[in-house]
Amino acid sequence: MAGDLYATPEHAQFRETVRKFVVEELRPRAREFDAMGRFDKALYRKMGDLGMLGLRYDPAYGGSGLDWSYTAVMFEELGRSDNAGVTMGICVQTDMATPSLHEFGSEALKRQYLVPAIAGEMVTAIAVTEPDAGSDVAGIKTRAVRDGNEWVINGSKTYITNAATADWLCLLAVTDPKAGYGGFSQIVVPTNLPGFRYDLLEKIGNWGSDTGQLFFEDLRVPLANTIGEVGRGFQQQMMQFQDERLVGCVSSLAGSEQLWEETKKWTEQRVLFGKPLSKMQNTQFKMVELWTDLAAAKELTRACVEQRVSGVDATRLITAAKLFCGRVSRRVADECIQFHGGYGYMKESLAGRAFVDSRLISIGGGSDETMMHYLAKQLGF
Ligand SMILES: Cc1cc2nc3c(=O)[nH]c(=O)nc-3n(C[C@H](O)[C@H](O)[C@H](O)COP(=O)(O)OP(=O)(O)OC[C@H]3O[C@@H](n4cnc5c(N)ncnc54)[C@H](O)[C@@H]3O)c2cc1C
Repeated sequence: MAGDLYATPEHAQFRETVRKFVVEELRPRAREFDAMGRFDKALYRKMGDLGMLGLRYDPAYGGSGLDWSYTAVMFEELGRSDNAGVTMGICVQTDMATPSLHEFGSEALKRQYLVPAIAGEMVTAIAVTEPDAGSDVAGIKTRAVRDGNEWVINGSKTYITNAATADWLCLLAVTDPKAGYGGFSQIVVPTNLPGFRYDLLEKIGNWGSDTGQLFFEDLRVPLANTIGEVGRGFQQQMMQFQDERLVGCVSSLAGSEQLWEETKKWTEQRVLFGKPLSKMQNTQFKMVELWTDLAAAKELTRACVEQRVSGVDATRLITAAKLFCGRVSRRVADECIQFHGGYGYMKESLAGRAFVDSRLISIGGGSDETMMHYLAKQLGF
């Protein structure tokens, strides 16, 4: 496989810290988290203590002030935690629900909600998707109406990761239905307020994270909980999606690489018709094709990270990478489950779990078609 994305001594040291956390805290409990249907909230504090939850955030709020390459290193390691649901829950905390608050939030809001999120004392969720609006983000209906110094929120969200665990949500709501793309706002919504409830959903994969539907009924939060300017929520959310998508590429490829390695070992050990499966040309050719796909996807992802680090607008490349990496991960999982035969279909096998988990990559965080829709526009169609 291609070498590590970033290989300075500082990156290597940080990689070792994350690897130790993955090996000691996550992998041994991976199936326990699946059975719980969620991640252990106490581990957020451990990650906070290790500095994993605010890598590129301002040290004034407890972050480490590092560039995005460290985020890539962290998710390369977390992608090998043998639990895609857990990795996604962590991604929500670091790269889905908090970037807007860090970038646009008021000082007071950052002190109240970002500092504890970076410390792992509060868990977060990002609440955008609704029962009638997923890909069409501008079609959301959850409404925040101004009443004095408060927003009164009514509506519902669905498929929300960390639904049961979150202490606060980064909510996208309609604040002015007549203002088009200027009619949305991002609002920090604590989940312990009257008027909030959730129902958990049962998923076919990604069992280590809790996913649910959220309901808001006359829920009141201060106007001061608005992230950035009122009416800029749609634009801020579009920016926030970029980091989520790039993390998705990095972590899914790391998981696929792990699966490829495990599958190679499996084919070396599994004997059929008097010889190891790995000695059959079909096996070798397919494994080589997968390796090539993975190498190409890693290089594309590396280019995105480099653009992100250098401050260039990486939107187009990240969109292409999200599309490509999702498809590569699905292909790797599909081919690898096949090499495992019946064992691949067992819940205990990495290949089986990867098969269902990888399916999400082409749906969540913007579907393949959403990526193609955006790219078609960008490329002048
Ligand atoms: C496990 C899981 C966790 C999730 N976590 C979160 C979360 O934490 N927060 C959150 O806000 N959301 C979350 N989501 C929601 C996710 O982002 C949406 O499911 C996704 O954006 C797709 O929206 P949708 O489900 O409404 O599908 P739809 O938008 O209804 O899409 C249906 C189909 O139409 C296709 N389509 C879309 N656009 C086009 C187009 N232009 N042309 C042709 N076809 C198109 C889609 O690709 C898809 O095949 C999660 C979803 C899952 C499954």
